[in-house]
Amino acid sequence: MAGEPQDDCLFCKIVAGQIPATIVRETETTVAFRDINPQAPTHVLVIPKAHYRDAAALAAGAPEVAADVLRETQAVAEEEKLDSYRTVFNTGAGAGQTVWHTHAHVLGGRGLEWPPG
Ligand code: 5GP
Ligand code: ZN
Repeated sequence: MAGEPQDDCLFCKIVAGQIPATIVRETETTVAFRDINPQAPTHVLVIPKAHYRDAAALAAGAPEVAADVLRETQAVAEEEKLDSYRTVFNTGAGAGQTVWHTHAHVLGGRGLEWPPG
């Protein structure tokens, strides 16, 4: 069920402490940790602790937590001293989503081209 932990979900396991991650921030509803395969000097993932498969499901099911995730992306950028940064939610396999527990990528610390590839 949306919002409930999923046994086969990598990011639910990170939330539960069953898989290690380099956690940079944690709130009652969110966790932020470094991406294992960073695409920029700062590459942090901000996730809700509750399981929602993508950003749209999170916004529909728990809009207050969606707002918490967005607030945390800004907090990460501030902690990492980023003047400019990019927040990305990949939604769907065609857009590159590979982990089906919604996550905001926070990327910064280098020039970021637009449009992305
Ligand atoms: P997506 O492709 O779904 O938008 O992003 C998934 C991200 O999760 C990728 O950038 C990938 O490098 C990262 N990732 C996958 N497995 C792990 C892991 O076990 N630990 C961490 N910290 N990041 C992971
Ligand atoms: Zn999950």
